[in-house]
Amino acid sequence: MSNAMIINGKEIGQEIRKSVAEEVAKLKEQGITPGLAVILVGDNPASQTYVRNKQKSCEAIGIYSELIKLPEEVSEEELLAQIRSLNHNDNIHGILVQLPLPGHINEDKVIATISPEKDVDGFSPVSVGKMMLGQETYLPCTPYGVMKLLEYAQIDIAGKHAVIVGRSHIVGKPMGQLLLQKDATVTYTHSKTPDLPSITKQADIIVAAVGRPNFITKEHVKPGAVVIDVGINRDENNKLIGDVNFAEVEQLASHITPVPGGVGPMTITMLLYNTVQSAQKTLSQDKKH
Ligand code: NDP
Repeated sequence: MSNAMIINGKEIGQEIRKSVAEEVAKLKEQGITPGLAVILVGDNPASQTYVRNKQKSCEAIGIYSELIKLPEEVSEEELLAQIRSLNHNDNIHGILVQLPLPGHINEDKVIATISPEKDVDGFSPVSVGKMMLGQETYLPCTPYGVMKLLEYAQIDIAGKHAVIVGRSHIVGKPMGQLLLQKDATVTYTHSKTPDLPSITKQADIIVAAVGRPNFITKEHVKPGAVVIDVGINRDENNKLIGDVNFAEVEQLASHITPVPGGVGPMTITMLLYNTVQSAQKTLSQDKKH
C-alpha cells in the first residue's frame, strides 16, 4: 500500500487565516476592530503558552486581544464579575477562559456565564445545545478545525463510517456531532470500549482524541481509511507526538494528519474565525437599528 496523503493543517490554517485577515481589514474600514478577551487564572506554564500563542495569532491578523490575568486565588465571584463586564464591553466580540481553572472555581458555572453571543470557544451549554440542534452558533474550535481539514482535503463524509476515539466535551463529543450533521454514521468509543481495534477497523474516518502517544497503530486501521490525529503529547525528548503511530499508520491510511502541523494549527485558526464572525454580527445588528 502506498503512503497516505498528508493533510497539511499548517498550510490550510494559513489559507483560512489569510481570508480571516481580509475580513478583519474590511471590518476596520467600517470602524470595527474585532476584539478577543482571554482570561488566564494562575500561572500554569502550559496555559501561559497557549494564551501567548492565541494573542500572537490575533495580533498577526489585526484582531485586538486583551489578556486578563487573575491570580490563582481569585474568587469565583470576582471571575464571574469579570466575565459579566466583558459580556457588556462593545470592544470585545469573543471571550475565552483558558482551562483548566483552579479547583475552588466551578468551571461549568464560569463557562455558562459567558454570553452565547461572545462564546467563540463554543463550550457554553447554549452553544453546545444549538450545535446539537444544528442551529447557528459558534462551533468548538478543534472539531470545527477538523471539519475544515476534511473539507479542504475533499474527503467525502456522507454515508461514511466515522469512529471517534475519545468523548471529551471539547473534542470527541462535538466531533461526532459535526460529522453526524454531514451525514456520517458515527460511532463513539472511549476507555470502557472493549476490543477497540475491532471497531476502529470498520472506520472510513478515524478521529483520535485520546491523549495517549502512539495509541492508534496499524492494528486499528482499515486500509484506505482517513486518519485524523487530534492528540498532542510529548515524548521522552519533549518532542510533540500525536495519538497515532504515524510511521505505521501512514502506510495504510489514504489520508493522515501529522503532529505537529495537522489539527493543532486549526484550533487557533477557528478561534480567530469565530471572533471575526462575532464582530461581523455586531455590524449587521447595527444596520438593523
Ligand atoms: P480528555 O482526557 O478529556 O479525553 C480523552 C478521551 O480519551 C476520554 O474520552 C477517554 O475515555 C478516552 N480514552 C482514554 N483512554 C482510552 C482508551 N484506552 N481507549 C479508548 N479511549 C480512551 O482529552 P481531550 O479530548 O481534551 O484531548 C485529547 C487529546 O487531544 C489530548 O492529547 C489533547 O492534548 C489533544 N488536544 C488537542 C487539541 C488541538 O488543538 N489539536 C485541542 C484539545 C485537545 P473516558 O471518557 O472513558 O475517560
